[in-house]
Amino acid sequence: MVADAKPPHGFVTRFAPSPTGLLHLGHAYSAIEAWNAAEDAGGTCLLRMEDTDTTRVRSEYEAAIYEDLSWLGLSWPKPIMRQSERHEAYTEALDHLAMLGVTYPCRCSRADIRAAITAPQEGDPQMVDQPMVYPGTCRSRSMADAGSGDAIRLNLESALRLLDGETLTWVETGPSHAGQHRLNPDEMRQVHGDVVLARRDIGTAAYHLAVVVDDAAQGVTHVIRGEDLFEATPIHRLLQALLELPVPVWHHHALVRDENGNRLAKRDNARAIRTYRDAGLTPSELTNLCSTLTKQAATLKQGN
Ligand code: GLU
Repeated sequence: MVADAKPPHGFVTRFAPSPTGLLHLGHAYSAIEAWNAAEDAGGTCLLRMEDTDTTRVRSEYEAAIYEDLSWLGLSWPKPIMRQSERHEAYTEALDHLAMLGVTYPCRCSRADIRAAITAPQEGDPQMVDQPMVYPGTCRSRSMADAGSGDAIRLNLESALRLLDGETLTWVETGPSHAGQHRLNPDEMRQVHGDVVLARRDIGTAAYHLAVVVDDAAQGVTHVIRGEDLFEATPIHRLLQALLELPVPVWHHHALVRDENGNRLAKRDNARAIRTYRDAGLTPSELTNLCSTLTKQAATLKQGN
C-alpha cells in the first residue's frame, strides 16, 4: 500500500489537487512554486490526489491533471498517494481522537445549522457561501451512539483543554505572514469552532483531517499552498498535536487573480491551463503569465 511506502528524506513538499475540475492558472502557479522550492532545496515534490469527494471527482479530471503537469515540465515520484485509498489511516486517526474524547457525532444538515445560528445572519444571502461556525447542537452526543448518517466533529473546547496550557507554535515562510505563529484559542473559536473531521455524505475524512494525516504519512516537511488556506493552519497544527504528528513549515503563496483582483474558480474554464495550451501558449509563457497576474494582484491589494 502507498501508505506503507517509506517517505523520502530531506526537504519534502507536495502538490495536492482535487480532481473535481480542470487545473487553472492558480494551480499552475502553486505547482510551480512547490516544484521550484523542492528543486532549490535539493528535495522532493510529491503529487497527491485529494479525491475523497466521490460526488464531484471525475477520472477525466485526474487524467487532465497528469497531462497538464507533465506539459509544464513537472514530474513526481510514483506511485502517488490517493486519498480515496486511505480510509484505514483516517479511521485510525479518528479512533485516536475519539479515544482522547475530542470528537462527537453530528447529524445536522447545513440548513439546520443555518437555522440555529442567531437572527442577524438569517436571510443574509452571503451566508450560503460563508463558512459557518457550528453552534454546537450535537455537542453533547457521545461517540458511542454515532451512526452511518453522522458526520464527526472536533470538540474544539475539549481539544484546547487537553493542551493543558501548552502553547502550540509553527513557522510560516510565505510573503504575507512570515514568522513564528502561535495558536490563538479565541480566534479558533470565532473562525473555526467544531470543524467537521469526517463527512456524513462521503463517510470518510474531511479535508482538515485527511491533509494532516497524509502530510505526516508522506514525510512532508514543507507545506506549500495558496494563501486561501492560511486560515486552516491552526486547525492543522492542533490536529497534529492531538495525533502526535510531526510539524512541518508552512509557506502560503500569493494567489493568481484575474485582472479585477478576483480569485479564479475551477468552473471558469477560460482560465484553465488547457485553454492556454490549446491557444498555443508555451509552458514558459504560461509560467510568466502566472507570475505577472500574481504581481498585479499584489499591487491591486496594496492599492486598496
Ligand atoms: N486539495 C486542496 C486544494 O485543491 C489543497 C490542500 C492543501 O494543499 O492543503 O485546494
